[in-house]
Amino acid sequence: MFNLDAIKATIEAQQCPEHQSHPQLTVIDDGVSIAACCPAFHAKMSELLGQEIEASMHKIMEEAMKNLEGGGA
Ligand SMILES: [Zn+2]
Repeated sequence: MFNLDAIKATIEAQQCPEHQSHPQLTVIDDGVSIAACCPAFHAKMSELLGQEIEASMHKIMEEAMKNLEGGGA
């Protein structure tokens, strides 16, 4: 539905300021799972993931609206 690879790359590029470790995002059956070095960083990455997904959804909606307008049905 949206570009999960791009979101995965964005998340995994992040680094924990405390442990200098990168999180790992795994696609599972009913969504995605984040593995992080500590609970604080995990919470931060969960929040970022939510933001990234929201931004992607927004982009898809915009594209869909554009297609609707151009479709002329
Ligand atoms: Zn950490």
